[in-house]
Parts: sequence; C-alpha cells; structure tokens
Amino acid sequence: MASPFEYAPAPESRAIVDIAPAYGLFIDGEFTEAAGGKVFKTVSPATEEVLSEVAHGSAEDIDRAVGAARKAFEKWSALPGAERAKYLFRIARIIQERSRELAVLETLDNGKPIRETRDTDLPLVAAHFFYYAGWADKLGHAGFGTAEGQSGAVPRPLGVAGQVIPWNFPLLMLAWKIAPALATGNTVVLKPAETTPLSALFFADICRQAGLPRGVVNIVTGDGSTGAALVSHPGIDKVAFTGSTAVGKAIARQIAGTDKRVTLELGGKGANIVFDDAPVDQAVEGIVTGIFFNQGQVCCAGSRLLVQESVHDEVLDSLKRRLSTLRVGDPLDKNTDLGAINSAEQLARITALAETGEAEGAERWSPECELPSSGYWFAPTLFTNVSQAHTIARDEIFGPVLSVLTFRTPEEAVAKANNTQYGLSAGIWTEKGSRILAVASRLRAGVVWANTFNKFDPTSPFGGYKESGYGREGGRHGLEAYLDV
Ligand code: NAP
Ligand code: MG
Repeated sequence: MASPFEYAPAPESRAIVDIAPAYGLFIDGEFTEAAGGKVFKTVSPATEEVLSEVAHGSAEDIDRAVGAARKAFEKWSALPGAERAKYLFRIARIIQERSRELAVLETLDNGKPIRETRDTDLPLVAAHFFYYAGWADKLGHAGFGTAEGQSGAVPRPLGVAGQVIPWNFPLLMLAWKIAPALATGNTVVLKPAETTPLSALFFADICRQAGLPRGVVNIVTGDGSTGAALVSHPGIDKVAFTGSTAVGKAIARQIAGTDKRVTLELGGKGANIVFDDAPVDQAVEGIVTGIFFNQGQVCCAGSRLLVQESVHDEVLDSLKRRLSTLRVGDPLDKNTDLGAINSAEQLARITALAETGEAEGAERWSPECELPSSGYWFAPTLFTNVSQAHTIARDEIFGPVLSVLTFRTPEEAVAKANNTQYGLSAGIWTEKGSRILAVASRLRAGVVWANTFNKFDPTSPFGGYKESGYGREGGRHGLEAYLDV
C-alpha cells in the first residue's frame, strides 16, 4: 500500500482548469503586454512545474492602468447603486459557477490543499461579492451619510484605489479589496503577489464575462517594484495593502504628506489560549485549525499556544497524537491536510526561524512524515519550553510552526497574549461564558474567537491593533475605507 504521505499527482482535477502558456496585464478591459515585454514565470510550489508566463508590469503600465481607472471612475461612480449591485451580483454568481475551476487553479498556483480552496476560500470569495453587492444601493443607510434620492450628503467614493495583495489567500484577498471598492463606486488597479498571479487574471476574465465596464477593474501583475509604482502613483486616491509589516511601514512612509487614504492589513502573532476547563478534543482541533490551516501562512494564525499549566501535558499528548494523523502532500488530493509552502523564499524563512527556535533552547517536535522530493515542504512542527523572550514567540513565522507557552492564571494569560508587537487575532478555549467575556474584553486583538478559530464571514470587520495595521475590512466598517464620509 502506498504511504499516505507519498506524492501522487491527480491528473483528473488538473484537467478542470485550462491555464494558458502566457498572460498579459488586464488594463482598460483588454489583456495587453507589459511595456518592454518583460515577463516572469509562476510555478506550482508543490512540483516546481512552470504553470505560465505572466507579464511584468512597470511604472509605465501602472500609469496606463491608473489612467484607465480614472476615466472609468466618471461613469462608474455616477451609476445608481442598484446598477453597480447588478454587476457585483453577476460576478458573485460567475464565481460560484466557476468555483471548481478557480479552486484547482488557486491550489496549483499557491500550493494550498484543494479541500481548503474548495470548501473555504471559494465560498468566501463569492460570499464577499454577494455581501457587498447588497450594500451598493444602501450606502446612505450605512450610517455614513444620507440615502440616495434624499436631500443631504450621500457618502461619496474616493476615486481610484491602488490595491496590493499577498499570496496566502490570493483570490480571497482580491475579493476583500475589490468588492467593497466597487460597491461604493470606486475603480481599482490591483497588483497580485508575484508567486500567485493567476487567479487575479482569471478574475479579470470574469469581469469581462460579467460585462463590467472597461477600466473599472485593472490587474497589473509584477513584483514589489510594480506594487511600489502603484502605491506612489499620484493619480490614486486610496491605498489598500495587505502584506508584511515591513512593507506596510515602507508604504506608510511613502505616502505620508499626500492626501491618499490608506488601510494596512499586516502581520500577526495570535495567541490561542486554552484554559483547564476546555474540552480537550475540541481545543486540540482548534489548535490544529489555528496553526496548520493554509500551512500556517495566515496573518491571524494562532501561532502562540498558551496552555494552562495544569493541562499542559494532557493537551500536548493529545495534540501530538492528532498531528501524527495529518497528511502532508499533493494539494490536489482531497485527503490532504497540509500542502506545499508557497515559495522557496518562504520555506527558507520558516526553516531559518525554526533553527533559531532550536538554537535558543526550545524543544522541537514533528510527527514522522515523508515529504515529497520536489517542491517546497515543511513538516508540521511544535516547539515546547518556549519563553516569551524567544524569537519564535515574538516573530511571525508564517508557516506550520506552533510555539507552546504556559500560564497559571487568567491574568497571566491576558498579559502574555498581549505581550506582542502585533494585535490581529486571538482564541479562547473554556466552558465558562463569563471567562470568555472577561478575557476577550482585555485582549488587544482585532478579532477574538471563542471555542473556534480561523472562522471568517463577510459581515464581520477584520483588522489589527498595533503593528498589525489600521483600518477594517469586511462588514459595514469595510465600506468606510472606500467612502469620503
Ligand atoms: P509582502 O512581502 O509585504 O508582499 C505583499 C504584497 O506587497 C505583494 O504583492 C508584494 O509583491 C507587494 N510588495 C512588495 N514590496 C512592495 C513595496 N515596496 N511597495 C508596494 N508593494 C510591495 O508580504 P508577503 O510575504 O507576500 O505576505 C505575507 C505577509 O502578509 C505576512 O506578514 C502576513 O501576516 C501578511 N498578511 C496580512 C493579512 C491581514 O489581513 N492582516 C492577510 C494576509 C497576509 P510581490 O509578492 O510581487 O513581492
Ligand atoms: Mg505560483
């Protein structure tokens, strides 16, 4: 019998998606070559197979895209909200219809398991467009101004939004950015991450399919220099960035003194707090979801486990048993739990941080698992005997690595959870409702889950405290980021 960890390609699902050998930039409703004809390759991180060659956008291309978005803004912003809503509903439905294809595409380009793209990412992407479609004709009732058709100030769109997204949830991050921007009457230029450009280009095709007017959505692929050209372009009115804290800080410096509006969704080091009265099996599932979902490449991952000292051994034994059942391998296999790490660079970063953990004296453990010989892989990893001063307790690893710390009292749990430069997410596991409320109200984290983790919904705002960024995406709050209120 084949080992559950053996890599076996799944050709039948690969056939669902038709990837062209080359893609251009999507500007003013057309796919075009980059000025100068520069291209880059995108690979499948699970096999290192080249999937396609993609145009590398330059400052000149950004300028063309911003020009197209500016021109389109006149008409798009003048449309009644109900008309804009029709396009967004149409996009949402096409995403649903094409979701199998998009899930396979995303899994190929990103390396994440098909179960996650199919069951989590794609339904959320469609839900986001449906949700914001519903707001498009109700902006006057969102609490930011007066309703359309009534006298007084109707909240106005900002203009052209420059949006830069990371590689961990390529299509979902696109939805978080584009859906609220279009619903509120803005037009956009979006730059996807260098390692995962394909789903944004398929989305461009969906915009055409939906009959979206030219120039309302423009997609310019490229690398960090393309993103920098977008952010610094004088013709954009709003910057929406999701990515690392380092690049977020650079962007904040770059646009300081301009009248550009900005939202930054940055890194995290979420605490997942397990009290001694929590049902252990449930908590263990939540710990696994918290840090091994999407190979831990999640900004709000529960990467610091804080476990009450009295149940430490019991929780750890149970967690290790559970980790021994995780399947690492072919992302297209429906039984796979952990897929590939997104890139060689990210793998090197995770590897280096895990080595630092060992060098600083923490105890490293992984279940036995064979990793495929090609592609970028990292076994699920636990560190025990971790103290708050350890690098692996402070720095975002953005990989399948959990740092385990202990606490004795709720006060100590709160103090340790808040002892971080970040403030994006946290989790609480306990049977006591009163404890959930008491602890949650003292955590400095944008989202606090109770007896669950990594659950997302378009109706609830998401965002950070401290170095996790500012501004909120999602929910009614997410409209404000795109309105002149
Ligand atoms: P990153 O290096 O900051 O890149 C994010 C995006 O910015 C990419 O499209 C990147 O392009 C682009 N970029 C790079 N340098 C730029 C510059 N100087 N100016 C403008 N754009 C630039 O982050 P990443 O490694 O892709 O993503 C992982 C990070 O994102 C983690 O820290 C994670 O916590 C954070 N994240 C946060 C959230 C949230 O909601 N808070 C969600 C997901 C991820 P290239 O890829 O082409 O270099
Ligand atoms: Mg790729």
